Amino acid sequence: MSMGVLTGKDIFSGDHPHMTLVEPVTQARPRDQRVTDAERPTFSIVAPVYNEEVLLPEFYSRVVAAIEPLGEPFEIVLVNDGSRDRSLQIMLELHERDPRVKVINFSRNFGHQIAITAGTDYARGEAVAVIDSDLQDPPEVIVDMIARWREGYQLIYGVRSEREGETAFKLATASLFYRLIRKITSVDIPADTGDFRLMDRKVVDALKSMREHHRFMRGLSVWVGFKQTGVTYKRDARKAGVTKYPLRKMLKFAMDGITAFSYLPLQLATYVGFGVAALGLLGIIIVMTLRLIGNELAGQATTLVAVLFMGGVQLVFLGIIGEYLGRIYDEVKQRPLYIVADAIGFEE
Ligand code: UDP
Ligand code: MG
Repeated sequence: MSMGVLTGKDIFSGDHPHMTLVEPVTQARPRDQRVTDAERPTFSIVAPVYNEEVLLPEFYSRVVAAIEPLGEPFEIVLVNDGSRDRSLQIMLELHERDPRVKVINFSRNFGHQIAITAGTDYARGEAVAVIDSDLQDPPEVIVDMIARWREGYQLIYGVRSEREGETAFKLATASLFYRLIRKITSVDIPADTGDFRLMDRKVVDALKSMREHHRFMRGLSVWVGFKQTGVTYKRDARKAGVTKYPLRKMLKFAMDGITAFSYLPLQLATYVGFGVAALGLLGIIIVMTLRLIGNELAGQATTLVAVLFMGGVQLVFLGIIGEYLGRIYDEVKQRPLYIVADAIGFEE
């Protein structure tokens, strides 16, 4: 194929993003399309739910109280991430009472980041807000975010000016982590942000095209670019229930963030390797000189320590390679990100 010439085959090859079946259908039925556009809600509020039965009713009423006065159509997309309490029943009851509440029911627990992904996949709003369902992120802040969106910003993230009710350990590790990730990656993830944010349809569509499995959503949404700004807010303490992020999950989440945006851990092996090799060279010179002037360097202990130390360093880097390799393996398998058992309220 000659360069720069677009053949008919190129244009109509099936995997071109704009060449899906949707377009011919809308061309054939312009009227229907206009109707669906009118029905498209202006705002979607997406919230992941994992064992939050106590808080759901209050979450729902606070969202409605905040968004309804704006006088524009909206939907609330609740993603049930395999809850084992009555969360699903409560969500279904909310949907019965108010059809603006839509429910995605996962077949099992897939995790917070995947639940957010599913919610934004299904959301149809012009602007999509992602918010925790435990009322740590005040729903009223969405109204401030919407105001910035009206000004033309396309991604508005929540910046925590204060965090109530978190342990000193969580605050310290979080601040360390965000400082580290800003240092070693090229994406500029703003400090003190979580997943609480409002995204324009364009940002949501860009995110939808990124199907990586180990998702660090707050990084991905910065990576896509667009006009971004922050809105500061005070993060409340959890109203009820317990955190679903024990240390083990937090560590995995941190590793997901680092591996998704940086090769530095892998490159570290090279740097350490050079350093140790230089040290070894120096050792050889010292040992040879000592031998030449007749002084033997005695010591099994030295040998043992050196071998153990190098063995440890090598295992650490093997582990780091393993972290990347496992993630590559997960991508290669190409499994779906999540399995939806039921999607309620999306038909029409
Ligand atoms: N969550 C989820 N799936 C999980 C863990 C958490 O959908 O596997 C939801 C949870 O219901 C909450 C949000 O994600 O709405 C944040 O979780 P959590 O409050 O436990 O995290 P923290 O605020 O303590 O970091
Ligand atoms: Mg929380």
